Parts: sequence; structure tokens; C-alpha cells
Amino acid sequence: MAEQRAYGDKDRDARMLLQVARPSGGKLEDPAAWLRETDIVPHDFPYAGGLIAESFREWQGQAVSSFAKSWSWCVLDYEGNWLDSASEFRQGRWKEKWEEAARGCLQTGNIEAVQILDGGEALMLLVLPVHTRRHGDVFAVLGCLMPLEQYDKGGRYAAEAMVLHFQTCFYNKFEYVFVSDLAGIQLHSERESSRRSLLFQIVQRMHDNIDVDAVLTEVIDSIAAMYPGAKLDLYMSQDHRSSHPQVKPLPLQWDGEDVCATAFKDGRVTLDHGHGDNGIVEVGLPLGGKQGVYGVFHMVMDKNSFHELDLSFLTMVADTAGTAFENAKLYERSNQLIRELRMSNELTQRLNQSLRLGDIFQFAFEELLAMFEADYCCILHKNEERGGLEVIACNYIPLLGKLLEEGQGLGSKVHISGEPLLLSDYKYAAGQTSALMDATGSRSLIATPLNVGGEVRGAIMLAHKQPHFFSYDSYRLLQAMAGHIGLAVGNARLHAEVRRLANRDTLTGLFARHYLDEEIKQRQSTDFCGTLVVVDIDQFKMVNDTYGHQKGDKILKQVSDIVKSSIRQGDVAARWGGEELAVYLPQLGVQQAVFVAERIRKRVMGETEPRVTVSCGIAEWSWTDERVSVESLFYRADMALYDAKNNGRNQVVIDNKLAENTAKNPWA
Ligand code: GH3
Ligand code: MG
Ligand code: MG
Repeated sequence: MAEQRAYGDKDRDARMLLQVARPSGGKLEDPAAWLRETDIVPHDFPYAGGLIAESFREWQGQAVSSFAKSWSWCVLDYEGNWLDSASEFRQGRWKEKWEEAARGCLQTGNIEAVQILDGGEALMLLVLPVHTRRHGDVFAVLGCLMPLEQYDKGGRYAAEAMVLHFQTCFYNKFEYVFVSDLAGIQLHSERESSRRSLLFQIVQRMHDNIDVDAVLTEVIDSIAAMYPGAKLDLYMSQDHRSSHPQVKPLPLQWDGEDVCATAFKDGRVTLDHGHGDNGIVEVGLPLGGKQGVYGVFHMVMDKNSFHELDLSFLTMVADTAGTAFENAKLYERSNQLIRELRMSNELTQRLNQSLRLGDIFQFAFEELLAMFEADYCCILHKNEERGGLEVIACNYIPLLGKLLEEGQGLGSKVHISGEPLLLSDYKYAAGQTSALMDATGSRSLIATPLNVGGEVRGAIMLAHKQPHFFSYDSYRLLQAMAGHIGLAVGNARLHAEVRRLANRDTLTGLFARHYLDEEIKQRQSTDFCGTLVVVDIDQFKMVNDTYGHQKGDKILKQVSDIVKSSIRQGDVAARWGGEELAVYLPQLGVQQAVFVAERIRKRVMGETEPRVTVSCGIAEWSWTDERVSVESLFYRADMALYDAKNNGRNQVVIDNKLAENTAKNPWA
């Protein structure tokens, strides 16, 4: 019976059935009475034809074939339409007679009997009404053809009894259909209700979870529990990796008809009943929230264990999972941001602890290694003197201090392009070579240029042995951290420059006096000996008077340049005051110092324009001296200079009157 309305109020009936099923809840004395009272009404008659015809055939099989075999039967509906009949009736010999009798029977509700002759045989044609059990409405009529002789011998009553049996057969079938229909509804609603309570549990559990991985595990386990035979995978886009074995990365290439591809791209549930009759159904369920689709569930299961109704349920599960996932992701993201802020704060605090470039790189290196949980960190810094990128910090020791030429390796590439780099898997990065990656066997890399005051001055590389180790977030974080490191490096460079300027004399470019003092003091605490040469321009007052002060300045600069270019790298030349210069020669004895002084004296005489001469005084200290001090060294050198002046200038004099000067020298 396809028509839902055919049996009246089904909800009420279903409730009744439930009461029957649960005796404790039912107060009816005869629990099956409601079923017996359930009946068809005239409203249902137009839909009852099929059931009547079916009952008729069954009834004929059981009753008619074993009893009164020679009788022929037919059945008509409540309007007199033929539903089924024996062959005699189909020949149509008594069709008109039949129809007339049937009309009469339907009108009056009484049995109609018509006598006929068939080739000499007297037959009786009977039309018997079939009544509904409650109100006695005629919902069908049965026709019976029997020999007149049998009719007279009580055949009529047998026929009447057989019609009653037919009615029972009809109601038997009716009840069966009705009850199985109700049971179907009951089963369906039970299924629905269990689905709903499951969904409710899933929703609750998923929203209890603020951990992304836990949400994914929850939804996978829930679906797996509902469809035990199904094969389930979850394909997630690049940024949402999980340790769950059923969570896999999205394939890079989709087959055009793939259910997952459609589900992911269109963000809707997609179904595929399979090609041919392989008995398999494939479902693609997008995992999405308000901000986008993050992944797609792929289910493959037996057709029989899948119902179309499940689609709406699965959609709800996927939607819930999507929202829960998004929430967890947002929570994770905000935690991540807080963590990054904290780390950035820690890094800048650490970087601010020192203004020395070496310290800055070391701190940055240590912090980055810990922050990103990288296996290797390598910081490259431009070295102008050596002309290339120097590995200034690296935990792969063989590379430390190495110099990279322009364009050599990934670090140099980042430095030249000024663009950050993320390599998920070095193994498949065609055309890219890196000494760090090769030597350490690393697979993942994030790298960023090191920007110092608007200029790229290096690169930072972080590597890990696992492929796909660094997320896009780490890649972004490294860039932010590189910004802080660049600032710190810039500050350190500025500081070094300021210090350099503070220690220099602006006119001559030589060191300032306080720097020389400090340097000698330092050396005297570590070295065994050293020599000081004081250089003074002869008659400089006169030079000034003759050529003017500006020219005087230029000559002073010329003399300074000669001094600078006449000494070794470790020697310190300073402007001692006015037109007096001083050179400290560490670890050098007086005899060698004379050569230096003589060289200076001769070069000044030959190279200055207008020509000037200088006088030099030399003094030496050694660790064997009774007292060693900067002041006494200067005093003695000055005394020697004094002698040089007195002896006619343009000469070098060694302080060789230590003994006799002792009385005059308060510092000795
Ligand atoms: P001598 O050393 O040979 O005994 O004679 P002097 O004339 O060089 O010595 P003195 O100490 O009398 O004079 C030093 C002069 O050096 C005085 C000053 O005008 C000049 N002088 C000092 N510093 C500078 C400077 O920075 N620029 C110029 N143009 N002249 C300077
Ligand atoms: Mg002088
Ligand atoms: Mg002087």
C-alpha cells in the first residue's frame, strides 16, 4: 500500500502499537483490540484494489483449489470494476449478466443470484458482497459460477461461507501490511532517534574539545562507530597536519570526477554510486567552517549499509566537525599568537642584553634553534673584508666560519633575492642545492633574508631532518623574528660605529689620546714589553705663521697619514695633543722602534708639502721594570723628545738616561 493515508491516523496507531509492545505502559485489557478495530473506510476504497486482488489470488490458492473445484470465481471492486477472475469469466459470455448482477449487489448489499444455461448445463451465477468489518460497507464483490444442482443442495451457503473466509483473508493481509508498515516506521524512527542522540553526543564532545587533533579524532571515531564496515579517510589541506593515521594530506592532483575533489571545491556533500554494479558507494564530505573548507572526509562502503537518509545526518556531523575544528583552530591560533609574542619578547630582551655583534648572532642562533625546534640553524652575515657571506653561527660545526661566494647555495640565493623561502621537502626541490641541507641530510627548510637598516646583509636558515616539518606559520614567524634580529644587528653596528668615532680624532683620523692610554694600560697588563714613540712637528708655530692655520692643518694630516702607513696592523697611532703624535708599538723593543721612527722621520722630510720635519722621542717598558705605568712611559718619551729638540730637531732620540732621569721623574 503506497498511500500513506489509506489507514487513517498512523501516528495514533503507531502510539497504540508502542503501547502494545510495552505492556507496562499499556492499560488496555485487550491489547490487540485496536488492531481489530482498524478498518478501511470508503475513503480508502479507491486504493484497496491491489490488496483485494492479491488477497483474492491467495484465497483461491488456499480455499477454492481444495474445495468446490468446479466452481469459478471472480472479484470486482466497490465500483464494479473487474479486479481478477477465472478463465470462464474472461471469455465474456456472461459479462453483461454479471455486471448487471454486480450493480444490483453493490446497490442493495444483498446477494444476487441469476440462473443461466450453458450448452444444456444449468448453472447458477452468484454475486456476493464483501463487507468492511466495522461498518459493513461493501468494498468488493465476489462472483461465483456453480452448477445449479449444487446450488440447490446448499451451494449458496457454502459460497457465503467462502466469501466470509475471503474477507478474513483480506483482513489478514491488510493487518499484515499495516503492521509491517508500522514496524517499518518504528524501525526508522528508532534509527533516527539513535542517530539524533549520537549526533547530540558528537556535537557535545566535539565542542568540549579545544584541541584540533582531538576534534579530528573524535569525528573520525564517531563516523567509524556508525559505519563499522566503511573505509574512512580524512584529507586535510597543507596547514592542518595531524598525527592520526587516517588523516592524510590532500592529494596534489585530483581525478576530475573524484568525489573528494568535488566535495572540497564546492564545499558540499558528494555521492558516487560507483561505476557498473560493484555494490560500493563513495561519499565525499567537506570539513568546513565559516572561513573556508579545511579538508574532506572520504568514505567508501557497501551500498547495502548506506541509506540515502544518512546523507543529511552525515552532513550534520561534517558541519558540526567543521565548526568545532574551526573553533579549535582559532583557539590554537590565538595561543600560537600569544606564544609568538612571548618568544618575540624573549628574543628581543635577550638581544638587547648586548651591543656586541658577536653576542647578537650567538643569542639569535640559540633562541631560533629552540623556538622553532629546528635540527639546524645557520646564520650568514656579509663580511666586507673577506668579500662574501660568512657562516657566523651554525650548529653544524664544519660550516662555521666558512665563506660563501655570491649565488652559492640556498642561503646566498635568499640573500641576493631578498625573498624568504619555504621548502617542504628538499629531496624534491629540483635545481636547488644547499651545503647545509646536503651535509646534514635535512629535508625541511625555512629561510629569510636578514635586513639591516633597509639593506640585506645576510640570511637565516632553519632546517629539519623530517620533510614537511615547518608550517606556514613558522615561516611567517621566522620573518618576524628576522626583523627583530636585523634591528639588533643594526643597533650593534651603530654602536660600534659610535665607539669607533668616539675613539678617533676627527682631523687626523688617528686614535684619540684616551684610547691610546687605555690601550697601553691594557697591553701592560698582558704583554712583556712595548715601546712608545712621540712624534712632534718641528717649528710648527712658524709653519702656521707662514702658511696660515688651514695649511697647518693639512700638513698635520699629511704627517698623520705618513705615521699611519709606516706602522704594523697591531700598532696604535694617536694624536697625543696639538701637533704632537704618538705611536705605541706592542711587543717591540727600542732598537726596532728606532727603525720605525727613522722611517717616519725620513718620509715626513721627503713627502710633506710644504716640507716640515719631525723630532721623535722613544721610550720602552718591560715587565722587569720596577714600576710600569702609562704616565712614566710618556714622561720618558717626552724627555727624549725634549733632547731631540735641544739637539737641533729632525732626529730620533731614545730615552737612555733612565738612571739620571729617575730623580726628576716623579712617576718612575
Ligand atoms: P718645536 O716643537 O719645534 O719646539 O716648535 P713648535 O712651534 O712646533 O712648538 P710650540 O709648542 O711652541 O708650538 C706648537 C704650535 O702648534 C702651536 C700651535 O699653533 C700649533 N698647533 C697645535 N695644534 C694645531 C692644530 O691642530 N692645527 C694647526 N694648524 N696648528 C696647531
Ligand atoms: Mg712642535
Ligand atoms: Mg709640540
